[in-house]
Amino acid sequence: MILGAGPAGVGTALGLRLHNYGGRTVLVEEEATPGGLSGCFGWRGHHVDFGAHRLSHNVPEIVALARRIVGPELHEPKNSQGLYFADRVLRFPPHLAEWLSPALLARLTLFGCGFLFAHIKSSFSADPENFVGAIKRMFGETMAEKLVLPMTAKVWGNPEGFSADFARQRFTVASPVQIITRIFNSKKDMTPPTFFYPEKGFGEIWSRMCEWLELRGAELGFGDRPTKIVVENNRVRRVEFANREAIEEDGLELVSTIPLIELIPLLEGFEVDRQIEDAMAAVRVRSLHVGAFEFDTPGILPTKVVTFPDPAIPFTRIFEQNGFSRESVCEGKTVIVIERTVDKGGADDQRDDQTILDEMEKGLRQFSFMPMDKMSARTMQRKPYAYLVPEDRTTEAMQILNYRMGAITNLHLTGRFSDGEYDNCDYACEKGIFLGAMLSGKISEWDYILRLEANRGRVITG
Ligand SMILES: Cc1cc2nc3c(=O)[nH]c(=O)nc-3n(C[C@H](O)[C@H](O)[C@H](O)COP(=O)(O)OP(=O)(O)OC[C@H]3O[C@@H](n4cnc5c(N)ncnc54)[C@H](O)[C@@H]3O)c2cc1C
Repeated sequence: MILGAGPAGVGTALGLRLHNYGGRTVLVEEEATPGGLSGCFGWRGHHVDFGAHRLSHNVPEIVALARRIVGPELHEPKNSQGLYFADRVLRFPPHLAEWLSPALLARLTLFGCGFLFAHIKSSFSADPENFVGAIKRMFGETMAEKLVLPMTAKVWGNPEGFSADFARQRFTVASPVQIITRIFNSKKDMTPPTFFYPEKGFGEIWSRMCEWLELRGAELGFGDRPTKIVVENNRVRRVEFANREAIEEDGLELVSTIPLIELIPLLEGFEVDRQIEDAMAAVRVRSLHVGAFEFDTPGILPTKVVTFPDPAIPFTRIFEQNGFSRESVCEGKTVIVIERTVDKGGADDQRDDQTILDEMEKGLRQFSFMPMDKMSARTMQRKPYAYLVPEDRTTEAMQILNYRMGAITNLHLTGRFSDGEYDNCDYACEKGIFLGAMLSGKISEWDYILRLEANRGRVITG
């Protein structure tokens, strides 16, 4: 029994089937479609992603699986990123002509000097102990303060309590020598040149995987959620649902990929003591607001994604849905998607959709490259769980909760808000496959632990 059909839940079901698990596999998801954060929503005939998603080359096994299951509809487009800085969109990899303005060159020289100085200084000083120190060490003071820390605050909140490890996992920086080598050897790109993306929006990967699973006998239930989980003698005995019959079977194994702080209140017959209550209260979450704006024109942005570190701009990134796949958006139209993150349940999160959309639209109107007279419709969606705040307090609380849930011997936690690992969708899916392999008896619990450990703290690119 698997709760949640995001990459971790779908991965677990795949892991069971790929390892010839002989028993029954049931996957229950509260939304109407699979994919979770990595999925899509349908709107006016378009397939719109919940935030810009790409399948990277990082886990070749998941790329191979996606190729096999999605087939010829999985394409390999080129990467193209833009950064809105000094009143213009700077393209990455750089287009030198756009970068040649005296004011911009002066700022870049400052960034470059700070960067070189930080790299020289790092050879003589100890490793920084906190996130801000680690970012300044990687990028230099000026670039850290003008670009990276403001961007971090927009995505994850105030970075004061974040760990240095999170900086090292989330940000990679080429050394000065590598950068100079690449400038003079243009064949080596500054960013990975391609990624994988299906025709009908990123969610197509997970819908195809679910079709594949159903054809092989898995039972999938969308639009449903668990309402009670009965625990007896440290084992889950019975799971009750809002819309389907309860599951109570000998040999039941329950895999949960849904937010742990939502799962724990459903447990009956398991004592939630003070330590668990305190840990649940300490978990801080950021929510995602996704705005979609339709335009009567076939293309707008110079790059697929544009990032906005400036705190005065009311979103973190925008992307052109049709820049990822022309087929995901109706002919002749462009859908610009806006991402912004806010503290879950905070004042910003409690505002109504129209107010948030008005603010997003006002933000778009300040850019001369946006043809606002061609805008034909707008909508927004919310994902209440987008990021765990990467602060020590939240990380420790998730570790305590995971440890304490280990007392329920047939409950297995995996996925971003369940085991608390900061994962990309390919890692989440791969971890699910490992879990499926263990539950099918094809790898031992020891091998499973070793595989998780080997992957812990892997660098997230993107
Ligand atoms: C803005 C943004 C951009 C990203 N870009 C990329 C990228 O380019 N590439 C990449 O690889 N990764 C990217 N990621 C990360 C990726 O989205 C996650 O790693 C991945 O979706 C995590 O999968 P998961 O299954 O752990 O969680 P989720 O995707 O959150 O899935 C959990 C599932 O559980 C369901 N659920 C929750 N509660 C219940 C309940 N009570 N009952 C039943 N079902 C429930 C949810 O609806 C959801 O379907 C990005 C994330 C964000 C926020």
